[in-house]
Amino acid sequence: MTPCAQTNDALRKERDLFSAIIDTAAVLVVVLDPQGQIVRFNRACERVTGYEFDGVKNKPFWDVFLIPEEAEAVKEVFARLRAGQFPNEYENHWVTKDGRRRLIAWSNTALLDDQGSVEYIVATGIDITERRQAGEQLRKLSRAVEQSPGSIVITDTAGNIEYVNPKFTQVTGYTFEEVVGKNPSLLKSGETPPEEYGRLWKTITSSGEWRGEFHNKKKNGELYWESASISPITDAHGAVTHFLAVKEDITERKQVEETLRKSEERFRKLAETTAAGIFIYKGTKFLYVSPVTETLTGYTAQELLEMRFWDVVHPDFRERVKERGLARQRGENIPPRYEFKIVTKSGEERWLDIAAGTIELEGKLAGIVTAYDITERKRAEKEIASLAKFPSENPNPVLRLAPDGIVLYANEASAALLQEWSCAVGGHAPEFWRNLIAEAFTNGLRRTVDVECEGRVYSFVVVPVTEAGYINFYGRDITERKEMEESLRQSEARFRSLIENAPVGIAVARGGLTLYANPAYLRMFGYADEAELYGTPLTNQIAPQYRKEIMERTLWREKGEVVPSSYETVGLRKNGSSFPFHVSVTRIELSDGPASIAFFTDITERKRAEEALRDTEEKFRALLEFASVAIVIVDDQGSIQLVNARAEKIFGCARHELLGHPVEVLLPERFRHTHVGLRDGFVSNPSPRPMAARSDLWALRKDGTEFPVEIGLSSIETKDGLLVMSYIADITERRRAEEALRAALRRAEEVDQLKTQLLSIVSHELRTPLTSIRGQTTTLLDYADQVTPEEQLEALQIVDDEAARLDELISHLLDMSRLEAGTLSVELGATDMRPILIESVTRMAAHAPSHKLVVNLPPTLPLVQADPRRVVQVVSNLLDNAIKFSPPGATVIVDTEVDASVITIRVQDQGPGIAPEHLPHIFDRFYRVEETGVRTSGAGLGLAICKGLVEAMGGRVAVTSQVGRGCIFSFSLLRAQGV
Ligand code: ADP
Repeated sequence: MTPCAQTNDALRKERDLFSAIIDTAAVLVVVLDPQGQIVRFNRACERVTGYEFDGVKNKPFWDVFLIPEEAEAVKEVFARLRAGQFPNEYENHWVTKDGRRRLIAWSNTALLDDQGSVEYIVATGIDITERRQAGEQLRKLSRAVEQSPGSIVITDTAGNIEYVNPKFTQVTGYTFEEVVGKNPSLLKSGETPPEEYGRLWKTITSSGEWRGEFHNKKKNGELYWESASISPITDAHGAVTHFLAVKEDITERKQVEETLRKSEERFRKLAETTAAGIFIYKGTKFLYVSPVTETLTGYTAQELLEMRFWDVVHPDFRERVKERGLARQRGENIPPRYEFKIVTKSGEERWLDIAAGTIELEGKLAGIVTAYDITERKRAEKEIASLAKFPSENPNPVLRLAPDGIVLYANEASAALLQEWSCAVGGHAPEFWRNLIAEAFTNGLRRTVDVECEGRVYSFVVVPVTEAGYINFYGRDITERKEMEESLRQSEARFRSLIENAPVGIAVARGGLTLYANPAYLRMFGYADEAELYGTPLTNQIAPQYRKEIMERTLWREKGEVVPSSYETVGLRKNGSSFPFHVSVTRIELSDGPASIAFFTDITERKRAEEALRDTEEKFRALLEFASVAIVIVDDQGSIQLVNARAEKIFGCARHELLGHPVEVLLPERFRHTHVGLRDGFVSNPSPRPMAARSDLWALRKDGTEFPVEIGLSSIETKDGLLVMSYIADITERRRAEEALRAALRRAEEVDQLKTQLLSIVSHELRTPLTSIRGQTTTLLDYADQVTPEEQLEALQIVDDEAARLDELISHLLDMSRLEAGTLSVELGATDMRPILIESVTRMAAHAPSHKLVVNLPPTLPLVQADPRRVVQVVSNLLDNAIKFSPPGATVIVDTEVDASVITIRVQDQGPGIAPEHLPHIFDRFYRVEETGVRTSGAGLGLAICKGLVEAMGGRVAVTSQVGRGCIFSFSLLRAQGV
């Protein structure tokens, strides 16, 4: 198996495992190919969408699931993933088979193939539709509660305050912190009878609603009235978990009542009392003061007797009182009764109504005065005056009814009521009201009734004024309050059922303490009852090692700091077991300050799926790190971003020496400049380039040595720009091996060719002379008695010629094989070519009588570096060819050319010449030109041997030719040094 196939196999196995896991995962897992087509769709997806995998397989997911307005955005996310920007997270809607929309929170990643291209995109999602709705519902509710015009107090079952809204703070002056955990009794003024509280408690604990009024005390001691509706909040099983009090400040209304009641009392007291201060004054001084006078003035009798009678009078009245008092003693006619103010010892002002007369004491007139304290009356009078105009201006209905039900008075605001009763002032109120009157007269108690009229609700305080024999009804339009209470009750119920039935765990906490936990939360963490968690730190449900961090985070959040709102951590169940969960927390602004609401999802399954993914990812990472090719990743500026172990090895360079450096450091100097351009070219058009063998790619090691490489390129689009990934293989060994292989192959081919050529030569060139020899000898033997001596001589001559040819051929073969093997010995020495050339031509001329051989030599020739024996061989060979290929009578010229460094010997003939296409091969072994027209024998070795010999002596051979005019073969030899 190739490494690549092994990897594929391993990946395939992993994928099998992975698919088993994703199919059982509770989270949605969709795997897409780079075209967005669905290649995997787990069971959780099937459940949520209602589609079977087979039904959506290979379809682009956006055609199936997306809602049109989100399609573009999702495609963009997908494109980014495909370009290598992952992992990422987003939320979008999926449309199920039956047309419902589900909101899914996705977390996506991509899997790369071994080329680094995106092969699959894996999306894991959580259906957060309900969670989102629940969150919105809760937000609505909290806003309603916060903005409620009435005070809202929520207590636990023990009556301890857990929540109060801003209105409460505004009304009572207590902050949330001051009342949380306390009993609402801190508002008690002592004015509400204890039995009332008893009744209240009894009503609400038996799951009923209590309505009534409290006379409470604010933080600053001020008393106020409120009407309250208190009802128990029950959980899904009907068990009471909280009490909710919705209250309205009715102080103003109460004050009206109170004022009326008090003024009536005061009138009564005045009528009943006979107690008046009595005093006598004479001259300027008091003579007598009664105890009541002491009470009135605040001064003791002793003190008063030392004072002038006007000293106690208010400055506004002092002068007048003094004058009248003195005038009265002179017997003048002074009004006997008038009112003035005094200032008591404590500085309080009081009105006195005096009736004064004179008595004679010791022959002198003295004043005697009875003084009534009319301060209260004065005040009441004022109030009566304002009351008198009150009912008509009152926007609420005020009625006075006689005991028999006749309407004595009705203000304008009562018009609607009267109309409903079909009655006017002087007429009879309906029976219901008459019953009320009867009841009020019987027990003399005040009570409140709510009455509906023309779609509005009025709360009437029924005040029997027994002495006066009538009953006052003070109404107040409470329609809005009623509606508000009703809507609060309804939204509370809606909210609760929603939260209680939510499939995700929901908890509300403040200051890190649990205020509320829904049933799903309890199930998730293994608690049976909400009460077990109240007031306990929310972090108790988190594994200890994570608590501190999360607690801090919670507190920061409540302060309004920006902290992660969605994260994963490890939960701790009541039984001590732990599990991973995802939580998303939102700060909610409650009236009394911020709190946190958290939504919990058990992500055990998702974690498991992720774990499997991570394993796969790690394997990919390891694959990259330990890949058999070097991998170098550079950014679009060519700066090295990542190298793997193999890259370190082949470049002989540690990772830290490369990172951040331009990739050109890995190239030999001569390529660097052009590489920058190539690199920019790739970045602007980054289509992957597979590895390909090119002979011109070289890399540079740290030690300065170069080595041949093979390079493949691909690009990775990241959010920080394009990364270019190069796969680099050091192919030194391969090159070497290839080279060796090629050489061996060449040799083998040559040997093979040689063998074939040799065989054909041997079969032809050896056999021809042998056949000829045998022919002659056979003739001589068979016809010995018949052949003439001339004929015998001729036959022997032929035998001799053919034997010579054989000899020549064999020595050519031997020379050739020696040349090939490098064993042909050349003994170089400073040689004079002149005698050698003359002798060779002379010897050849003897054998070629029909040709004209000419030697054209200068008188002297410089010496050359040569082996004389071999030079003779070369010259003979060239002359032999020249004679052999030229017609009888032709001339062959041998001459020389002397150069500064060489002497060239030329053999020129007048033969047929050699066609240009043959010239380059004419010195090759066994190369013969058959179409010269002249049928000649030969093995094609002569010229090859010449070339071998000349080159062995350090010289060169050459040929020029014109077809039809002959050839010039030449060889040049180096001139001997120093000569
Ligand atoms: P051979 O022994 O066959 O002559 P050589 O190596 O001496 O082998 O010559 C090779 C071939 O070159 C010949 O077969 C012939 O075709 C060509 N050749 C050599 N010398 C001449 C020449 N002087 N004129 C024309 N052809 C020649």
